[in-house]
Amino acid sequence: MSMSTFVFRRHVRLSTGIGLVSRSWLTVGVSMPRGRLERIDSQQRYANWKRSPYAIDPATCINCDACVRHCPPALGAVFNRGFTELYILPELCSGCQLCVQACPVDSIHPRPEWSASTAEDWALPGSHDDPYR
Ligand code: SF4
Ligand code: SF4
Repeated sequence: MSMSTFVFRRHVRLSTGIGLVSRSWLTVGVSMPRGRLERIDSQQRYANWKRSPYAIDPATCINCDACVRHCPPALGAVFNRGFTELYILPELCSGCQLCVQACPVDSIHPRPEWSASTAEDWALPGSHDDPYR
């Protein structure tokens, strides 16, 4: 269900008086980008993801692209940045670890102290260089 649908349902319930809407329900409907496109539009990480995002160590990565292929398209977090660098957008990474299991050289590690992606990085999702389009 899209975030806009949540907002619409909230409006109907409030206007018809069918029932009370809890504070937590409102929070879920308004502030959490649930789908990949919504995460890209809002540039926010889904707040209910408990694991930290992951990051690729360029010092040991051999550019095999296995992480790109194993990241689920609904998450779509791994990108080729330039010609040789693989990069995980932390806002799109749920921490599911599927790429970690696929990496042949153990180059992918948790990134608990992640920082927001730059405008340049946000230009990757949805572009011709987005492998999950
Ligand atoms: S941890 Fe999961 S979501 Fe994050 S980059 Fe790896 S496969 Fe994608
Ligand atoms: S799977 Fe590992 S070695 Fe291959 S591109 Fe990804 S991080 Fe690099």
